[in-house]
Amino acid sequence: MAKITGGCLCGAIRYEIEGEPFRIANCHCDDCRKATGSAYATNIFFQEDQITLLQGTLKIFEHTADSGNTMFKEFCDTCGSQVLAGGSMRPGVKNVKVGSIDDASFVIPDVNLYTSHALSCTHIDENIENFEAMSPPA
Ligand SMILES: [Zn+2]
Ligand SMILES: [Zn+2]
Repeated sequence: MAKITGGCLCGAIRYEIEGEPFRIANCHCDDCRKATGSAYATNIFFQEDQITLLQGTLKIFEHTADSGNTMFKEFCDTCGSQVLAGGSMRPGVKNVKVGSIDDASFVIPDVNLYTSHALSCTHIDENIENFEAMSPPA
């Protein structure tokens, strides 16, 4: 796969990613919904060192999840686009927000998380792995 490129809405943040993601998850939890302003988040997981920030500085917001883990969101402080996220339960791993990717045509989610929190208008693909809350630790 060619390098994945992306950035924020205003263009201040640009990144590139080398290699393949190891997991693509739709997350329907309340935190993802709030943070993205969308019905759910599609999170593309990479090892941190696959991702190179080419331009701009991401602002970091930290919060505590229901699980007790410290979560972080990295976003553009000019336009507010959320670009990256992660948490203390997976050190060295970040997820890239699908909306920030320039050409996300490769993205096919392999799991839905927190389906018990999904909006009634959100279609859940029954042909992939689905978990009512977080998936069991891999
Ligand atoms: Zn921006
Ligand atoms: Zn979530």
